[in-house]
Amino acid sequence: MNCKHCEAPNREGWFYCKTCGKRASSRKFTNIMFMRSEVGKRTDIEFSTTSMDKHIAKVTKDKKIRQAKVWEDRVRQASIN
Ligand SMILES: [Zn+2]
Repeated sequence: MNCKHCEAPNREGWFYCKTCGKRASSRKFTNIMFMRSEVGKRTDIEFSTTSMDKHIAKVTKDKKIRQAKVWEDRVRQASIN
């Protein structure tokens, strides 16, 4: 794939052209890059139905429940030993 600005070869698929420094590829390509990013991998975020605030609140709640369970298990383990 060549740079869309200066037509310099971009065989390694750099996001920014190494020759002219501009964005080497089209928007379609950047969306694919996004889907391969950390956020794109996550399936627990429903962008369309859940607002970011609601999502954060849910994650915080889940984390508290998980931590409470960890401590419960540790206390149980300690009492066995
Ligand atoms: Zn270029």
